[in-house]
Order: sequence, then C-alpha cells, then structure tokens
Amino acid sequence: MEAILAAAAAVDWPALGDRALCDSCLGRLFGKLGHGLTNQARGQAVREIARISEGPCWVCGGLTDRYDDLAALVARKLEPWEFETFRIGSKIDFEVAAREESLWAELAMTGPEPLKAEVNREVGKRVSDHIRKEAALDRPDVVAVLDTAFDHVDLQVNPLYLRGRYRKLSRGVPQTRWPCRRCRGKGCARCGGTGKMYPTSVEELIAGEIMRESGGTAHALHGMGREDVDARMLGRGRPFIVEIKEPRKRRIDLDAAVRRINASGMVEVDRLTPATGGDVVALKEDRAAKTYRVLLRTAPPVEEAKLKGTLPVLVGEPIAQRTPGRVVHRRADTTRARRLLSAEVVGVEGDRAELRVTAEAGTYIKEWVHGDGGRTRPSLAERLGAACEVLELDVLDVHDGG
Ligand SMILES: [Zn+2]
Ligand SMILES: [Zn+2]
Repeated sequence: MEAILAAAAAVDWPALGDRALCDSCLGRLFGKLGHGLTNQARGQAVREIARISEGPCWVCGGLTDRYDDLAALVARKLEPWEFETFRIGSKIDFEVAAREESLWAELAMTGPEPLKAEVNREVGKRVSDHIRKEAALDRPDVVAVLDTAFDHVDLQVNPLYLRGRYRKLSRGVPQTRWPCRRCRGKGCARCGGTGKMYPTSVEELIAGEIMRESGGTAHALHGMGREDVDARMLGRGRPFIVEIKEPRKRRIDLDAAVRRINASGMVEVDRLTPATGGDVVALKEDRAAKTYRVLLRTAPPVEEAKLKGTLPVLVGEPIAQRTPGRVVHRRADTTRARRLLSAEVVGVEGDRAELRVTAEAGTYIKEWVHGDGGRTRPSLAERLGAACEVLELDVLDVHDGG
C-alpha cells in the first residue's frame, strides 16, 4: 500500500476539478501497484490523502457498483449450457473508455488498469462463485461477452472435439457430406430432394450419433487424409477428430455413442476420446504412409511370375504424378513426386491380381496402377505392358505411429 500512497501523493489532483470518481475508478489509476488488493481498496486508501469530489462517478457512471447484477445476468445466460470452463470478455462503452484514457493523460498516470480488465476479472470472479466453475483463459468451453452499454451477453460456445479411428466397411460412402453437384445442396430431382450425392457419409454416421446426446448446430469431420468413396477403410482404421459446434452437453456417454455408430454396419469406431482444436491442426499435418489392398484386372492377363518380377523394381523408384484426370477440374494441375515403400503380390487368378501396396502419404494408388493416360509415370500398367483396371481398393492401414 505504501507504493500506492507514494504515487498518489505525487499526482496533481486539482487537475481533476470537481469531477467525482468512485473507489474502483480511483483505485484503478494505481492498478499495477500493490499486489493482491482490489481496486476498490486502493481507491479507499487514496481517497484518505487526496481531495476527490463526491457524487456519481465521472468515468464509469456507476458501472463498478453493478458487478453483482452483471454476474447474475451472465450466469442466467450460461444456465442452459453444460460446460467445464468459461471466460468473461467485455465490450466497454466507447465514451466510458475515452473518459478513462483522457484521465490517464491529464493526471499523467503511468500504471493504470483499464476498466475492461477490471470488469472481466470482477464479473468473472462473481460468476465463478455463482456457478461453481473455474474461469480459464486458455481454451475455455464457453466465452461470455458482456456489453456493458446495453447489459447484453453474447455467448461464444466453443466446439466439442472427440477423436478416434474409423473403419469404413461399405463402399459408396464418402468421408464427409457431399453436396449434390446439380443443386449444390438445395435439393433437386437428381438427389431426390436430399441435397446430397450419397445418402450418408462417415461424418454423418459418427457426428449424428454424438449429436443425439450433445445437441449442437453443425458438425465437421477432420480425417488424417481420406479414402475414395468406393474404397473401404479397414485394419486399425483412420484417425479422425469429429467437431460438434455449439454443443448443449459435453459430458456424454461415449461408449453408448460408439455402440450406436457401430450399429450402422457401415462405419465402426473402437473408442472416442476428448480432443482439442489444436489436435485438429496436428492431425491435418500428419504425413502418414498408407497400406492398400488392390484388386485389379489385367488385359491381356499377366502371369504371376511377371507381376512378382515387376513389383520390386517399382518399389522405391520415384513416381511422378500429375493431378489425376478425375480431379483436375477442381484442383491445380501440378506434378508431385511420391514413392512406394513396399509392394507384394497376394494372389493371381486368371486376369485378376490382388496386391498389397504401401505408399507415401498423398500417393494416388489407382493412378499408379492404371497410369492415368500417362499422367502418372512410371505406372504398373506401363511396366507390365498391359492395361490395368482397379476393381477394388481398400485402405488396410494408416501408419500414423498411433
Ligand atoms: Zn467509477
Ligand atoms: Zn440435388
């Protein structure tokens, strides 16, 4: 307290004139001094040694007396939502902030605390007592933004993130909701009014079952890469994070959600665990190699011995892949360099061959097999001197180290 009183003694208080200040606004002028004190206590001490007019506060107009009411307002707004952590933000009336700053200049204050910081802290403390939950600056579940000019509270409810690995047991299921190409999602004759190219997706099958309990306004599925619509995803499954926007509930029975997802018969998840928005970034950056099962038809039919002789030569050889013809209408036409990490023949029967291939992240496997009209070189078809058609493609593993 001595540091505050010493600083207060050096202030030119007559410059204040007859403008009155409340204890909090007075104390905030010395807000960076005296650890562990409230601004109100600072202000009471300063008032002892400085002549300050009494009356309605010139800076805040009585705002600092209303923290209890404002906290009750915030608590009411939070009531319908289930969350663990929260943070208070505030919008301070522009004119109030301007008066405060002019005062700092007139009195040459060096360490004042802005009203906004006090409102956030004082209202936050009271809300925390009220609802018995901790305020958290880092990644809170909910941010309540209090507009002090209108006594209005806006809630920003942060998403719920859950992670897992999915297996896709059916072909013809895209990873994410795929809007109808003709109507772009509005609904038309082609899509039977659904607005979608496919009846469902991995995203809808997983997120739908979670939202049944969590509620929420929308969802997204972030996958560590994606498989083609007609490729299954088998083995340990593909790592993903599902995001539920504005969930009403966050503590849901995850085992029950997993059971409901698995009951679809199309998608399976072993378990769901909590994740964060930061985990999504890490997931998206991962460059995991993938192992595939490829069933292909060769014309003319290729002998097993020839396949077995050709595959090892292709492993490790740089593959130059131009953006596949099937997607070049929506992606930049570039050339990427990829490699196979291993390739083996599982079996050959007549014109059918089954292979197991492991490739670097981002390798277009179908194109490596058939050559894509020369856009991928070398290709299996090119080296075999036979046309190769992919009949089935499955992802057997995503080597993410997890
Ligand atoms: Zn005040
Ligand atoms: Zn449509």
